[in-house]
Amino acid sequence: MLLNLGSINIDHVYRVPHLPEPGETLGAHSYGMGLGGKGANQSVAAARAGARILHIGAIGPEGHWARAAMADFGVDVTHIAKGEEPTGHAIIYVDAGAENVIVLYPGANRCVTGADVASALAEAGPGDSLLMQNETSAQVEAARLAAEKGLRVIYSAAPFDLQAVQAVLPHVSLLVMNEGEAAQLRAGLGSLPQVEMIVTKGAKGAEWLSPGAEPLVTPPFKVEPVDTTGAGDCFIGTLAAALDAGLGREEAMRRASAAAAIQVTRPGASQAMPTAEEVTAFLS
Ligand code: ADP
Repeated sequence: MLLNLGSINIDHVYRVPHLPEPGETLGAHSYGMGLGGKGANQSVAAARAGARILHIGAIGPEGHWARAAMADFGVDVTHIAKGEEPTGHAIIYVDAGAENVIVLYPGANRCVTGADVASALAEAGPGDSLLMQNETSAQVEAARLAAEKGLRVIYSAAPFDLQAVQAVLPHVSLLVMNEGEAAQLRAGLGSLPQVEMIVTKGAKGAEWLSPGAEPLVTPPFKVEPVDTTGAGDCFIGTLAAALDAGLGREEAMRRASAAAAIQVTRPGASQAMPTAEEVTAFLS
């Protein structure tokens, strides 16, 4: 079983003629609501990849839409807590040239408690995996408890925060970063830590670095990208699902790369995650 301690956001997307100026009142051409947050995106990617995925997170009083959207994608939502703080959300303005401005309110994502995590992890044991990112509270408690219980802890260090990485790192089995995050970690620590680590490199592919071994290089798949939002989340969710299913590193990396290559050819984030069948067809 795969568990994911992760953020859940509602994205409010407004198409506007231009980005608003200070003091301006601007009419929007259209409005749409989408499921977002790195955590929710990764859970959806894992569910689509065929994993049994239990999401650990929190929403506010008006968050039922997001929880229902995740359940529709096949994510187990029974450990999503409901509190008084508003659901995490992003207000996104997109202009005619696809330039955007985003205001993000973390809200309930910062209200996940150690007790919420412990109650979800009570269902897990050795051989299971815990995935996490940097958009919730209770990460250190979760990583420590999961490692104690013999789970594989997969940590996506995004959005990058040096202190958060340093606190979680002692409990991590596999660290996943994009090139920018890896550069920030190298700058912050003086060198990259000697742990199992994947660095994703956008259209250049990805590498699995193991202490004392040659890097496992996964070449990219050549596609025409339409929207790369959520590519990393797709990669990580698919990878975690593959490792949890017992696939080896090389095959897990290949499936994650293929899934992300498909994902970038479609608009949106969570709704663009491919199914296991689509990935298998892409690879054959
Ligand atoms: P993030 O979205 O976190 O910045 P990356 O940009 O490194 O992460 O993308 C994650 C993975 O998605 C890459 O390692 C690659 O497998 C895939 N990917 C991203 N962009 C492309 C692209 N233009 N063409 C093919 N694959 C891509």
